Amino acid sequence: MNRRQRERFGPPRKSAAGGHWRQRLRADFRLAIISLFGVSVMAGILPLAAYRFYVGDWLTGTGDLVLVAVFAALVAYAWSSGRAGRAARLIAVTMTGGYLALVIFGSISVMWAFPILGAGFLLADRVFASLSAVGTLAITALFADRFDAAVDIWSFLITGLLVSVFGLIFATRTEIQQRQLSEIASRDPLTRAGNRRALRYALDEAAALKVRYDSPTSLILLDLDHFKSINDVHGHEAGDQVLVSLAELVTSRLRGQDSLFRLGGEEFVVLLAGTHAGEAERLAGIIRRTLSTQLDGPGGSVTASMGVAELAPSEPVREWLARADEALYEAKRSGRDRVVTARPPDA
Ligand code: GH3
Ligand code: MG
Ligand code: MG
Repeated sequence: MNRRQRERFGPPRKSAAGGHWRQRLRADFRLAIISLFGVSVMAGILPLAAYRFYVGDWLTGTGDLVLVAVFAALVAYAWSSGRAGRAARLIAVTMTGGYLALVIFGSISVMWAFPILGAGFLLADRVFASLSAVGTLAITALFADRFDAAVDIWSFLITGLLVSVFGLIFATRTEIQQRQLSEIASRDPLTRAGNRRALRYALDEAAALKVRYDSPTSLILLDLDHFKSINDVHGHEAGDQVLVSLAELVTSRLRGQDSLFRLGGEEFVVLLAGTHAGEAERLAGIIRRTLSTQLDGPGGSVTASMGVAELAPSEPVREWLARADEALYEAKRSGRDRVVTARPPDA
């Protein structure tokens, strides 16, 4: 990898998998909530369990310990599997089920329904949390002896419904904002292609799939030819419009598993999952022809040069990009408007 490539592809990066726990907590809201829950449950129930054992109430003490163990196991599952969403649902179910069992057969107060409803909307998805909220309220209300007077049942149902509606509104707003934020964080605003950050993530993902399943992945590094002169002669805005059209045209030629990213300036990467070099070269040829015949700049047609490289076994992502880059420069050197496929690293 030469200096120019180092500048363009950024510094080497440590793998995101198995990252530092603080990083994971910051990156994964659900995991953070689950962990907070786990710690709260343990901090809240463990002293109670100790007290029960101290006064000789072995049965309740053991029940408390079982509850702590179940939550600890669910938190551990979230951390080790990386499936925070599923763990969060399991915790919501466990919590709601535990509450209902204790209201029906045990001694717990119906007031516990409120924090549990709130937590359900924090932890689980909206449909799941709404259904479990309605179920929780309805089943609790069926046990009339839990309430001091008939009017209390109605107060309970109405306040519970209000808490649930607020929870639902909050969850909906959070979900919409999260979607918007992730869109902003991963897309190039001009061309709507994935941005550099999204590309990093996708390349690491592809490399991980290669290691785990030996699944082939290729990439096309694409650079517009003589783009600077479009800017110089017709202005930056005309150049921008060419970039927008380029992204649209390339996207129209991609298959479902392919994705387009803007590496920067007028350079793009097409990531082709499950694709060997031969097929990638064929696709690059189709894209090249599409651009040279359909990409209209202000001064006539605009062409692109491309370097194609298939990820080699145990090849670092940066080396993979560097090979595609060398192929791209070979395409530029040999006259532009063409596709060059990189040789495997050991060849
Ligand atoms: P080559 O065929 O060798 O690739 O020539 P080129 O002129 O395309 O290459 P060069 O890298 O010298 O020029 C890239 C130009 O892209 C420089 C800059 O003016 C332009 N550019 C980079 N980002 C943007 C952008 O976001 N919008 C516009 N309009 N131009 C951009
Ligand atoms: Mg360039
Ligand atoms: Mg260029």
